[in-house]
This record gives sequence, structure tokens and C-alpha cells, in this order.
Amino acid sequence: MAARRKDIRTVSTTGQCWICGSTENLTGEHQVKVTDLKDLLGEIAPGRTVYLHNAQRTNQRIKSWRADRLKSGGKICGVCNSTRTQAHDNAWTQLSRALRARVPLMKAGQIFRANTVFPHDTSKQMLGVHLYFVKLFGCHIADFGIPIDLTPFSKAIMTETAHPNVYLKFGYGADFAGRPHVGISNVEVASRSDATVAFAIWMQGLGGLSVLVIYAEPGERRQALIGAWEPHMGNGLTIVDFNAPAEGTTRGRRPRNVPSRAARSRR
Ligand SMILES: [Zn+2]
Repeated sequence: MAARRKDIRTVSTTGQCWICGSTENLTGEHQVKVTDLKDLLGEIAPGRTVYLHNAQRTNQRIKSWRADRLKSGGKICGVCNSTRTQAHDNAWTQLSRALRARVPLMKAGQIFRANTVFPHDTSKQMLGVHLYFVKLFGCHIADFGIPIDLTPFSKAIMTETAHPNVYLKFGYGADFAGRPHVGISNVEVASRSDATVAFAIWMQGLGGLSVLVIYAEPGERRQALIGAWEPHMGNGLTIVDFNAPAEGTTRGRRPRNVPSRAARSRR
């Protein structure tokens, strides 16, 4: 059911955790996991500089992977950031590494079987991957004040159940002029006449792997949903080529795979 404008729970970027409501130990979630950053860009060390580019400024020098500038402005508490979501973070670390190793060898349209990564508790771990991106998406919504109701995002994480309107899509992304880069795009939204959001997408680029994160209200039929995955669909992920003309944004453009908030290394 669509939330009416006045029902939408909005959260200021300070003050309380958007997941549980706590006001203690508030922190920003990393927009890209530190394990992904280190895997792709290595350690930050003397002679090896990493720059952050975003809509505000380009070439911001990053001195540590723990820098606040790499974190979302949408705040969550210490408990939600660690205990409550640690298993979800770990599930994504494992799947991310496996996808980055395998996707370059796969053709678009091939199915990646998640049980090759999680042989025992596949569905539970894949729910964790879904919930990791639900957390990141909720942080973007809180950070940018996007008019999407945060209540189901919070409930999904608190009750360890899937958010019925959040989908993921995995595949090839363009590289950054051959240089290693990691980053996220802006959130693109399609709004209704009452300003509520029916559909929203953003992308995380991890070297040659991209993840498209989709919010789609029931009844939305968009090109971007073809090949998208949510936990009730089982454990096969369709690998897509985000550079193919049919892929990408709500308006059928090629995705901007040079992320607006990108960290990249320069040797
Ligand atoms: Zn919390």
C-alpha cells in the first residue's frame, strides 16, 4: 500500500537511529563496505593516495578508510551498526568477493547460483545480503530526505524479513577509464503527482561489478526490474550487462557508471 504523504516517517540526519529509534552512539554507515574498498583499492599508505569525488567537490584526499566523508549522513546507532546487522554485512562481504571473482567469466543472462557461496544456509545468507542493501538504502533515504517511508525498511531489519519493495540486480559495470574505482550513484526517483515515490534506483560500483538497488511499489513495471532479484525468488541471480542499451535507468538512458560519489586510487 502506498504511504500517503502525511504518513511518511521522515528522520532528520541527526538525533535518532532510523532503524530502532535510539539516540545513543549515532554513527554513519559506510556507503561502500570497507572490505570492498580495501579489496579493490588496497590499503591507504604513503605514496598511495585515494581521492573522493562527489557532487560537492572532486579530488578530496582520503587519509583513512574510516573517514567520515565515506559515511552516510543518515544516522544509525552503534547496536544497529554492529550487532544487529553484522551477519548481513558479512553475507555481503562473502557474496561481493565471489561475484567479483566470477562475474568477469560469466556471460550476461547467465545465472549465478548463490549456493556456490553459501552451501548450507543459502536463503538465510541471501536474506542477509538483501538486508545489507535495505540498510544502505534506508541510510540514503534518511540522508537525502527522500519521500519514501522508512518504516518498512526499519521493520525488515528489526524482524529479519525481506522488504517487499526492494530488489537487487547484479552485473557488469563500466570501469573508470581503466582505473580501479568504487562508488555509488545518486538516487534517481520517479514520483507520483502527490510527490510520493513509486520507483527509485541507485547503483553501487565495485570495480567491474555493479549492483543496482531498486525500490518499486507494487504494480510498477519498469525495464530495470527485469532480471532483478528479491529473496522470495530463490537463490539464482541473473547476471546482467549494465552497458547494454536496454539496461539502466527509468528513462532508458545508459547508467552513469562514473559514480557521483566515487573513491578511486591513484598510484
Ligand atoms: Zn538503532
